[in-house]
Amino acid sequence: MSTAQPQVPDVSIEDRLYTVKYRDAGESHLGVANPDVCTDCTTNECAKVCPAAVWTVEEDGDGVPHIAYENCLECGTCRFGCPHDNVTWEYPKTGGGVVFKQG
Ligand code: SF4
Ligand code: SF4
Repeated sequence: MSTAQPQVPDVSIEDRLYTVKYRDAGESHLGVANPDVCTDCTTNECAKVCPAAVWTVEEDGDGVPHIAYENCLECGTCRFGCPHDNVTWEYPKTGGGVVFKQG
C-alpha cells in the first residue's frame, strides 16, 4: 500500500474563492425572518460562520446584515449558525447560484 501523501496546492482560500463561478438568480435566496431580531443581536454569528463572507454587519449600522447572496456557496452553514433561527434560506431559482464543477 502506498504511503504517498496527497499534494495540497499552496493557494489561499481567497484565491480559491476567486475562481468560483456564480450565476446571479436576480434576487436573494437568503434573508432574515425578522430584522428586529438582528438589531438586538450582538454576536452576529451569520457573519462569522459564512466561508464566503456573504454576511456583513456594519459596526455603526442598524445591526441588520447586508447579504451578498451572489457569492453564496450554498453550504447551508448560516441556517444553523444563527442562534435565533432568524435566517431564511432556500436554493436559488433554477439556473442560478454557484456553479460546481468536477476536477
Ligand atoms: S441573522 Fe442571526 S446571527 Fe445574524 S445578525 Fe441576525 S440574529 Fe444575529
Ligand atoms: S449558505 Fe454558506 S456560503 Fe451561503 S451564505 Fe450561508 S454560510 Fe455563506
